[in-house]
Amino acid sequence: MEHYSVIIIGGGSSGLFLSSLLKDSLLIEKNHECGKKLLVTGGGECNITHDEAPRDLVCHYFEKKNFVSTALYTLPPDEIRKYFSSLGVDSFTREDGKVFPSSRDAHTVRDALLCGGKIITDHAVKSIRKDGDLFVVDDEFSSTYLVIATGGTVFPQTGSTGDGYNFLKEFGHSIVPQRNALCEIKLSEDTSRLEGLSVDNATLKIGKNVKTGPLLFTRKGLSGPVALNLSRFVDGNDEMILKLCDITAEEIKRLNGKLKCANALHQLTGLPQRLIDEIVPAKDKNIASLTKEDIREIITRLTCWRLKGNTHGQARLAMVTRGGVSTTEVDSKSMESKLCPGLFIVGECLDVDGETGGYNLSFAFASSYLVYKKLKSYLS
Ligand SMILES: Cc1cc2nc3c(=O)[nH]c(=O)nc-3n(C[C@H](O)[C@H](O)[C@H](O)COP(=O)(O)OP(=O)(O)OC[C@H]3O[C@@H](n4cnc5c(N)ncnc54)[C@H](O)[C@@H]3O)c2cc1C
Repeated sequence: MEHYSVIIIGGGSSGLFLSSLLKDSLLIEKNHECGKKLLVTGGGECNITHDEAPRDLVCHYFEKKNFVSTALYTLPPDEIRKYFSSLGVDSFTREDGKVFPSSRDAHTVRDALLCGGKIITDHAVKSIRKDGDLFVVDDEFSSTYLVIATGGTVFPQTGSTGDGYNFLKEFGHSIVPQRNALCEIKLSEDTSRLEGLSVDNATLKIGKNVKTGPLLFTRKGLSGPVALNLSRFVDGNDEMILKLCDITAEEIKRLNGKLKCANALHQLTGLPQRLIDEIVPAKDKNIASLTKEDIREIITRLTCWRLKGNTHGQARLAMVTRGGVSTTEVDSKSMESKLCPGLFIVGECLDVDGETGGYNLSFAFASSYLVYKKLKSYLS
């Protein structure tokens, strides 16, 4: 049996990052190449992090703000960028704060991370067990420390099929049920006629959760940052409230009475004409002939559109998994299991999901960095 100080299972974003730091380790990846998911990030351009101070950054992880804090304060965006720069990958910040490699090519990021310890590909790990103080992987490799970096369950075509959960259950870990997140919200109402239309400043509310920002209508529903970031809250056919703009009855009444309603509303709200034409009641009337009821309906449709939606069947398209290994059983200062010393869990395998904008890779890298620091102290 081959022995290593550290074995990393999974050669995705987090596993590769750790392997690049730990020269003396074995990384085992099931695919023929490492980082298949990393290669499709940011539309192939790889949004590696977000140019934000840690105190703001941590607010993009929903209820896991506290859990992710040590990781993201220890390896903040500036340090992520510096590290990549040290590997020859310079980066730039887009106007919206997203950080990309200057090459705008995820291959540069993936290839730079192949510089670390030994890597074995085409090997899907099947079993992990403990033999005394050692971890034994597939009865073929043993290690003193073991890192599970097998990702979540969405976008399984890149290799993340939830294998880590099965391994970790054997070590007593609880797995929070998974849901698709950062994905399109499919609507019960047919909005196919709105496909391609976007609104810069829409507000979407699902239960107590509210987001404002860009929204895109797709053939089957809603996408764009607002819908993507809220998709994690959609469970079943939940009611959502969509506000497309701010508008009052007085503002409508003050409009030139001779104008056609649809044109006047387009000018007043700045919403796309086609969107107004498709969704606004009484669109062909003149402003002067709108009844109180017409105005009430127009306002309801534009500021309080009730929709039902779900994220079913989106696993192959979703960008992150909500759910995974319960964070209550993992030390947030080192990512070491509280149930099994020497066992570490990083990245999307954990019950942590961030918003769109470089937050999930930031956590994948930063959680691995904490493991690196802890292992350095154990191994020195
Ligand atoms: C289309 C898309 C675009 C995205 N864009 C961005 C973006 O621009 N910015 C951002 O921050 N985030 C983005 N994300 C999210 C981000 O890619 C993930 O959160 C991140 O890659 C998670 O890293 P990970 O290492 O935890 O898991 P993964 O990167 O999924 O890696 C897990 C690895 O483990 C391997 N593995 C699994 N089981 C086994 C086994 N039994 N044996 C051996 N190997 C195994 C898998 O093959 C895989 O390579 C995007 C995701 C998708 C799907």
